[in-house]
Amino acid sequence: MTPFERRTETVQAALGDIGADALVCVPGRTLQYLTGFEEPQRDRHLLFVVPRSGEPAAFLPSLSAAQFRTETWVREVDTWGDGDDPVAALSAFFDDRGVPAAPHLLVDDTMWATFLQDVRSVRPDATVGLASEVVADIRLRKDDAEIDALRAVRALGADAVGLTEAELAGRIESFLTDAGGERLSFETIVGSGPNGAMPHHTHGDREIRAGEPVVLDFGTRIDGYPSDQTRTVVFDGDPDERVQEVHDVVRRAQAAAVDAVGPGVIAGAVDDAARSVIEAAGYGDAFIHRTGHGVGLDVHEPPDIAAGNELELRPGMIFSVEPGIYLEGDFGVRIEDLVVVSDAGCERLNHTSRGLEC
Ligand code: ZN
Ligand code: ZN
Repeated sequence: MTPFERRTETVQAALGDIGADALVCVPGRTLQYLTGFEEPQRDRHLLFVVPRSGEPAAFLPSLSAAQFRTETWVREVDTWGDGDDPVAALSAFFDDRGVPAAPHLLVDDTMWATFLQDVRSVRPDATVGLASEVVADIRLRKDDAEIDALRAVRALGADAVGLTEAELAGRIESFLTDAGGERLSFETIVGSGPNGAMPHHTHGDREIRAGEPVVLDFGTRIDGYPSDQTRTVVFDGDPDERVQEVHDVVRRAQAAAVDAVGPGVIAGAVDDAARSVIEAAGYGDAFIHRTGHGVGLDVHEPPDIAAGNELELRPGMIFSVEPGIYLEGDFGVRIEDLVVVSDAGCERLNHTSRGLEC
């Protein structure tokens, strides 16, 4: 059984738990998570119906059938052609696949309203909830395939050298590609000197200077799963004392937050652990974002590692721990690793040096 089938079985059990008849998803993250099929939503109906029990089935335009059969484990595939009325075809599909007359359906959160209208028109007595009622919780916990994929991504690293920020970003990106990365997780960040004080500055024409800190935040995807890590480094020459001090504070804050991670811990407590170190050092106002974000198929997804988030961490959750200090007009420091919650505490998925020196 593939990991995708296992996930689908878990969804079926969850549907039973909450009394829903079926999950109806469209191309997007949920369908990718359950089948591996990765395509954007387009104007023709393409639905994947997971009933509470029995065989899941797909309803696709004929032109996508060969691709879907090749790329997924799904055994039951019904097609419709451009000469057919898609709503009549959908109605027949629901009837053939045993969707009840008045079902409780969980539809993909990102299903276009046009498709939802058609689902409603063929099952006017349906009650409709959101797929995230069952899928978000399952995606949060991950499974071994995801953890292995992320761990493999972590084996990539990048050594960077001088040049302009844009040139350095280009080097990092080609290194990631050479090392087997499929495509970038997000636009590579190279924030040199004062640019490092802007967390979302990506890269520009500024030349990297000796002795100044440079924020490097980058990632690539393997098997569709993104990595994400940040290091702040000085490429050449000695950083001044303040840079060393701020870097040390961020490093201690990051270590304190990682140490705080474990099953049963509240997400907000991890944020507190990092923030209190930075506040005690007098830089509280310069830590201007949450401590971390979940990472799965999306680079940013739940859980939010933020003040006030009462969510309890559980084994299998993966998220970033990335405190930073941003001194406007001067420089910035951020250190980021991904961690996976284990039964005893957590495991870091990044093992490259966190030091300032290259
Ligand atoms: Zn990052
Ligand atoms: Zn991040």
